[in-house]
Amino acid sequence: MPGLIERYRDRLPVTERTPVVTLDEGSTPLLPARRISALVGADVYLKYEGANPTGSFKDRGMTVAVSKALEDGATAAVCASTGNTSASAAAYCGRAGIRLAVVLPEGAIARGKLAQAQICGARVVAVQGDFDEALRLVRELVERRPLALLNSVNPHRLEGQKTAAFEVLEQLGGTPDWVALPVGNGGNISAYWKGFRESGVAPRMLAGQAEGAAPLVTGRPVPSPHTVATAIRIGNPARLDEASAAVRDSGGAVRALPDDRILSAYRLLAQEEGVFCEPASATSVAALIEAVADGLVTRGSTVVCVLTGHGLKDPDIAGAEGAEIVRCPPDVESLEQLALGGEPVHA
Ligand SMILES: *Cc1c(COP(=O)(O)O)cnc(C)c1O
Repeated sequence: MPGLIERYRDRLPVTERTPVVTLDEGSTPLLPARRISALVGADVYLKYEGANPTGSFKDRGMTVAVSKALEDGATAAVCASTGNTSASAAAYCGRAGIRLAVVLPEGAIARGKLAQAQICGARVVAVQGDFDEALRLVRELVERRPLALLNSVNPHRLEGQKTAAFEVLEQLGGTPDWVALPVGNGGNISAYWKGFRESGVAPRMLAGQAEGAAPLVTGRPVPSPHTVATAIRIGNPARLDEASAAVRDSGGAVRALPDDRILSAYRLLAQEEGVFCEPASATSVAALIEAVADGLVTRGSTVVCVLTGHGLKDPDIAGAEGAEIVRCPPDVESLEQLALGGEPVHA
């Protein structure tokens, strides 16, 4: 499929003069989740955004933001990132010939994401602080120098990201009752809500946050946010007001999940559905399970869970949460015993 700007040109802020920077992002699968549907008693679908070119939904916003930066004559850009924004910006800026600096909270970025930014030629700066500090510094920097800012405070990012809502409606052939997604900076939930409103529909938005980083629940910034889900380890969301409005105006809800529930949804997705996403993404499914248990989401509802990023982004957590590795001497008797674990296998 062609990229998003070509597919949705009439609904995006571009003209014939906009140079299109694309990696043919979007058009990601909407997968029925048979086992999870049975578990919660609802019709559950997974919008698998890990299938985007750099492995996260950030590519939807980046194709528009980088194309517009190029149109505006930018030669250099900057972003603060919990990882996926930097990976995406590095790829699109590399393709556009725009210099990029990515500003990351030191020691808090998943290994796969860091590797992507490094190999795509971005200047990688690790700030001794958390994401909120990195974003504050980047916003100060763009006051001093003529740099394109590629964070989701850039409105072009949300314009691109709203196309995910268009795709959900096309793929489902109707409007879901609920759309569940993880919330960090609040850009993506705002973008989905915008996309649905522009399409004249209003599914209820279910926001999943990590318990240690849940400003949407408290309504105010959280100092020193913490969670295993690094993509949503954000205490002071740039889009807090819009995200809150999306939840309120849609008749939606927020659920804050402890890390162990996020990780059990992460394993459930991989083991029961064959879908390997990153921990933050599984927050959507963890939030759904919680909202079914407390009676908010009722039986028979149609629910789309957005899986924001690919599992390979964070190989360290997969290794720690996944199966242990069994060592084996090089003979077939040992292999038979160890591979099958003594359980009978029938033809
Ligand atoms: C960026 C990101 C989020 C959070 O999106 P926001 O727009 O910041 O709310 C969630 N999951 C993944 C994998 C991300 O990369």
